[in-house]
Amino acid sequence: MNTYFSLRLSGLLLLTALLAGACHSAKSTRVDYTQPDATRDKKIRWQSKRTYTFEGSGVAVSNQFAGARLNDFRRENDSTFTALIKPENAPINNSAWYAFKIWGPQPKAVTVNLVYQDGSHRYHPKISRDGRGWQALPAAAYQADTAQHVAQMRLDIGPDTLWVAGQEIFGARDFQRELAPFLALPFVRQRAIGESKQGRAIFKMDIGEEKEPRRLVAIISRQHPPEVTGTYALLGFLRTICGESDLARQFRREFGVVAIPLMNPDGVAEGHWRHNTGGIDLNRDWLYFNQPETRVARDEFLKIKANPAQQLFMFLDFHSTQRDIFYTMKPELETVPPHFSEQWLAEIQRRLPDYQVRERASGTKSPVSKSWFYLTFGVPSVTFEIGDDTPRESVDRLARVAAEVMMEQLLDYVAGSE
Ligand SMILES: [Zn+2]
Repeated sequence: MNTYFSLRLSGLLLLTALLAGACHSAKSTRVDYTQPDATRDKKIRWQSKRTYTFEGSGVAVSNQFAGARLNDFRRENDSTFTALIKPENAPINNSAWYAFKIWGPQPKAVTVNLVYQDGSHRYHPKISRDGRGWQALPAAAYQADTAQHVAQMRLDIGPDTLWVAGQEIFGARDFQRELAPFLALPFVRQRAIGESKQGRAIFKMDIGEEKEPRRLVAIISRQHPPEVTGTYALLGFLRTICGESDLARQFRREFGVVAIPLMNPDGVAEGHWRHNTGGIDLNRDWLYFNQPETRVARDEFLKIKANPAQQLFMFLDFHSTQRDIFYTMKPELETVPPHFSEQWLAEIQRRLPDYQVRERASGTKSPVSKSWFYLTFGVPSVTFEIGDDTPRESVDRLARVAAEVMMEQLLDYVAGSE
């Protein structure tokens, strides 16, 4: 720990206790998701949207933009401030998202303490001068004590807005921009299939040469708002499937892909840590479907089930967590194609010898998307998790190889079974 921060962090601990109430740790309350009402609406604590200004200090801070999360901002002295960050409700998974803009009339260095309620510091700060290009705040300007819930950063502010956030801010507009090149392709279609709780459109993409493909792969992502690295993997995966390789062309003749890239548009816009605006973790609502976002997705995918001319072959759900990991189904749960995810992961590992493929298999108890897809379709169902801090170029490489191997192995499987 460098001297600058070691002097400051001790004082900050007291401050944390004062601001956040007694030291809350992330609550360990277990929710019984087998109960039908476990995913019924819970109360949200809305953040008040405002711009904080401090006379004499020349510092202004705002959360008045999509994706922002800042619950309070206080001045300690003219160059030190404390940001209070709370989740949308609790108990909640500790995905302690924060995002704000900060500026001032003169160039100036300020210290900002991050203090949390109902959670603790998780994300290394990212900064941006335009809200689009992002970089990690240099390590020398940042110190965190996750056990004590706090972090501190030194920011160089000035008349130009500085964006500060837990990860790169990547919301509905960014999806539109990044997906636009795909949507311009003749074999990609996009359609609104329903609405979120706050009335935002939920979009589905169809990729494939056939209007009504016989064989399909289903993909969803961004049930959890801060999980931006999962979105990067999704984009790399789709880019490979939409690419110009012979493999991708052949795959698109034989298979269709149905993707819902942004499952929780409200949570992303509201800067939520985890939940939709019903206050619910959407990836625990795949049993009773109490939330509109999961119902929209379920109803769309059930059309495949209802169509005797169509068959689903694989399901993928992109997320982020502490490190890259594939959550698969236990091997004794038989799938069609058989043993597909084992073979897929083994081949990814073979092609990336300097990369460690991690896998954890589970059953169907937890009402997450992959359980529902397995129980409904009997297909290999995988939660594709990318680490919060995985280098972005390594996300791209993994996504590309994962897509290539999936396309090859699915094509081999149908060639061998006909
Ligand atoms: Zn997640």
